[in-house]
Amino acid sequence: MHGGTQRSQFGETSEALFLTQGFVYDCAEQAEARFKNEDPGYQYSRFGNPTVTMFEERIRLLEGAQEARATATGMAAVNAALLSYLKAGDHIVSARALFGACRYIIETLCPRYGIASTLVDGRDLDAWQKAVRPNTKMFFFETPANPTLELIDIAAVSRLAKDAGALVVVDNVFATPMLQRPLEHGADVVVYSATKHIDGQGRCLGGAVLGSADYVNNHLQEYLRQTGPTMSPFNAWVMLKGLETMPVRVQAQTATATKVADYLIAHNGVTRVLYCGHSDHPQADIARRQMTGGGQIVTFEVAGGKAAAFRFQNALRLIKLSNNLGDTKSLVTHPATTTHYRIGPEARAELGISDGMLRLSVGLEAFEDLAADLGTGLEAARNGSTILLNVQH
Ligand SMILES: *Cc1c(COP(=O)(O)O)cnc(C)c1O
Repeated sequence: MHGGTQRSQFGETSEALFLTQGFVYDCAEQAEARFKNEDPGYQYSRFGNPTVTMFEERIRLLEGAQEARATATGMAAVNAALLSYLKAGDHIVSARALFGACRYIIETLCPRYGIASTLVDGRDLDAWQKAVRPNTKMFFFETPANPTLELIDIAAVSRLAKDAGALVVVDNVFATPMLQRPLEHGADVVVYSATKHIDGQGRCLGGAVLGSADYVNNHLQEYLRQTGPTMSPFNAWVMLKGLETMPVRVQAQTATATKVADYLIAHNGVTRVLYCGHSDHPQADIARRQMTGGGQIVTFEVAGGKAAAFRFQNALRLIKLSNNLGDTKSLVTHPATTTHYRIGPEARAELGISDGMLRLSVGLEAFEDLAADLGTGLEAARNGSTILLNVQH
């Protein structure tokens, strides 16, 4: 609630929004001293801004990291975390179950700059081990993964990385710092899309990278300062206030998601339910070791493939169709035709993304209202009628 606050001379309760590009120097000597790093004040908001610093300090304290930096989006965070550290001739190993844009950076962008990449099944420790080359400098993965909620054993993979001399970067978006703390399990760097649970109310884009002082000061800092994927002060102010309510939001959404997962399992039109908080999750042992809650995403499959999944979506009235997640409003998406459309049917099959699969991001609505809406959707999925009630989107 209070971490990172820097009060102005007015003593405001809520943190101030310093919506300014630059900062005025008292004299020429002060400007010189700032540029020589001999005076700690601000120079220009691409390099730093008090509101952005407040957000960085608050997320740093929450994560328990030595340093944190904010970025314009989650993808700017992932891109900077990788490209500030890697160089031509290096090799990165990554789990293949990834957010689409992360996969593009690793599979397509990195090789264009001479950084070789290998994608592995992140659940298979032997696959990580076998992928290691003498020039392997980084391991990257997301756990739980989107949308299949596959888990990766952070401690075990981090041990393999240490042996290989590689840095471990974890995309912790789905778990949030409330439910999983990768640094405590041996990871070196954690990245977030602040767009998701940190804002949590569907307003601003943002990202964060957290890690050791050595990594941030000797690699990340200069990259961010010179290339400019900076978080705007306005967005930092929204995220800063978002962090104050994130713990209670994530807790409430997780509690409702647990009930939603139970509801879906009991429904006979549903062929499969994946939820990290359930004892029947294929990797429930890993969830118990590294997560303190199942999170607010529930992935499930309806019988009847794409047609049934579309009937389900089009019959919903409360739950909105959106590829976003982590919002206070419940959102559903059909990964095969949206977030994972571009990777093609073979890659989808490899990841276990079927045509009947739906990803539900549970919001803060009452469980009873969500259950009623899901019931309507599942009814439409099952009986094949095209109910077009969803005109108000
Ligand atoms: C949304 C998301 C991102 C990208 O974040 P943006 O803020 O949209 O750039 C990266 N990783 C995961 C797992 C995400 O869900």
